[in-house]
Amino acid sequence: MTFVVGLTGGIGSGKSAATQKFEKLGVTVVDADVVARQVVEPGTEALARIVAYFGEEVLSADGELDRSALRNAVFDNDEHKTWLNQLLHPAIRTLMQQQITHAPGPYCILAVPLLIENNLTGMCRRVVVVDCPESMQLARAIKRDGSDERIIKNIIKSQASREQRLSAADDVIDNSGSIDQLASQVTRLHHQYLTLSQAS
Ligand code: ADP
Repeated sequence: MTFVVGLTGGIGSGKSAATQKFEKLGVTVVDADVVARQVVEPGTEALARIVAYFGEEVLSADGELDRSALRNAVFDNDEHKTWLNQLLHPAIRTLMQQQITHAPGPYCILAVPLLIENNLTGMCRRVVVVDCPESMQLARAIKRDGSDERIIKNIIKSQASREQRLSAADDVIDNSGSIDQLASQVTRLHHQYLTLSQAS
């Protein structure tokens, strides 16, 4: 069985930067954001059910899910939101599990922004948190997305707190330094995970 290392962190903490370093070392990364798009690709059962529930207006002209139309359809409607989450969460979980099962190598990274919020730590043998001060998360996310400070602050507020995340962590990547410092921590953890996965 593949040894699963869950990787999480708040917006702008450096999750993508960290997973890119693991990928460079040849580690398979199962990415919840990618899986969330794959489960609603044209031809999937989930997309068919969404169209049956919300109507054709949630499809774009080329038959893809129109995410902003879906967002509008569930906006301010708790019943619709619950229905959609009850469809998508198990579908995403199942596909993540399939990708984990097929991942080559002794361990894989399961990158999930809301790993703690969505109670997915049970899928992981170990949890690594990418961490930096909130002021840095804010500055880096604003620079990356060109977003308003208010929007990023609201996202930070809606996510688990830094303390909640750190208390769920087996390992912490301190991303308050340079990208090179991030890379050397990833390399150190990679060796640790190779050892741990071979011992299990
Ligand atoms: P997340 O995936 O957690 O939202 P990213 O990995 O996209 O965060 O990082 C947020 C932004 O900060 C990106 O533009 C990234 O290139 C930059 N970044 C990440 N780590 C560092 C670092 N150690 N030093 C400087 N910039 C960084």
